[in-house]
Amino acid sequence: MSLSEEWIARGDRHVAKTYGRYPLVATRGDGCRLWDADGKEYLDFLAGVAVNNLGHCPPKVVTALQEQAAKLLHCSNYFHIPAQIELAELLCAHSFGDRVFFCNSGAEANEAAMKLARKHSREASGQDRFEVITALASFHGRTIGTISATGQEKVRSGFEPVVPGFKFVPFGDLQALRAAVGPNTCAVMLEPLQGEGGVNVPPPGYLAEVRRICDEFGLLLIFDEVQVGCGRTGRLFAYQYEGVEPDIMTLAKALAGGPPIGAMVAREKIAESLGPGTHGSTFGGNPLMAAAGVAAFRTILEDGVIENCVAMGDYLRERLEEFKGRYPIVTEIRGRGLILGMQLSVEGGEMVKEALRRGLLINCTVGNVLRFLPPLIVTRQEIDEAVDILDGILAEQ
Ligand SMILES: *Cc1c(COP(=O)(O)O)cnc(C)c1O
Repeated sequence: MSLSEEWIARGDRHVAKTYGRYPLVATRGDGCRLWDADGKEYLDFLAGVAVNNLGHCPPKVVTALQEQAAKLLHCSNYFHIPAQIELAELLCAHSFGDRVFFCNSGAEANEAAMKLARKHSREASGQDRFEVITALASFHGRTIGTISATGQEKVRSGFEPVVPGFKFVPFGDLQALRAAVGPNTCAVMLEPLQGEGGVNVPPPGYLAEVRRICDEFGLLLIFDEVQVGCGRTGRLFAYQYEGVEPDIMTLAKALAGGPPIGAMVAREKIAESLGPGTHGSTFGGNPLMAAAGVAAFRTILEDGVIENCVAMGDYLRERLEEFKGRYPIVTEIRGRGLILGMQLSVEGGEMVKEALRRGLLINCTVGNVLRFLPPLIVTRQEIDEAVDILDGILAEQ
């Protein structure tokens, strides 16, 4: 038995079976590379599903964690936490936001956003506003509240009854959105570019018109940037692509360059509705994660990460487009920056497994969209290497 096989057998006995795991036992990472327990090397174009935006073990994040770990690991939010304050300052200085609530995951950030939207809308309108309109094919998390908000039947199935107060409309359909607004609506919550739902880019002008509809009916606009924030689309935040500002934005995944963190960013007037005692999280904005967040955010701002994302995003797209002409099963390449999807006319699951065997990590969403999420520090050479592996696989289909 190899070391990997031993770990997999042990994991099979006691770890919850909530994931369809691939036979890779991850033990070490560096930049865009990952190694398994037997020393096999992989080129990582999944990046922890858009978490490792700075690559594996980004040196500044590692140093910040080591220094903070030696000083203070945890401290209650009853007290003031310098790293949390610094990260909030950075997020507000570089976004529409004025105030940040910290938590530990994307789902928790969306829970905070939905709680704030309900409470603020009731206070501001004096009416019973609680309903949130979200999109079909969306993904907002796995808690009871966020599966209720997610426009995919498969994530809710078996867990009903879900939380009431959600309406779903097709992503990109303005007429349906208008028609869904009712007297109880408080907010519209959208991913500015859908990730899990198949890398769906909004139609031109859609987000701007959604903003107008929200203003017309006095609704809050929430952008779930958990996957596409922090530089992934070639902008610091995906909303900046079209210059459409939300009232509330949620972040997680890449925010601390690997360690778990979540954040809800809101405008001052709205954030006021969450006063002392209304919401909280034991670990949220904890010194260790916040220190990693400050280091990761500074790296994105200062080290040319977004510029590289734009240039390498263009290059990867160009290389993937070549497949469209050569292989009839490749029907479309879409996305922004370094979140790219390759629409296939066939199921993609087996191709993901073959890529893994050949040392390339990618994944497949909605059955037939290969998704590419390399670290934003990826190089041309690494893209060429990944494209060669894919080429070999496509040639055999
Ligand atoms: C991953 C993701 C979430 C959930 O984040 P968790 O940290 O897994 O709770 C929410 N929204 C979007 C858009 C995501 O991609």
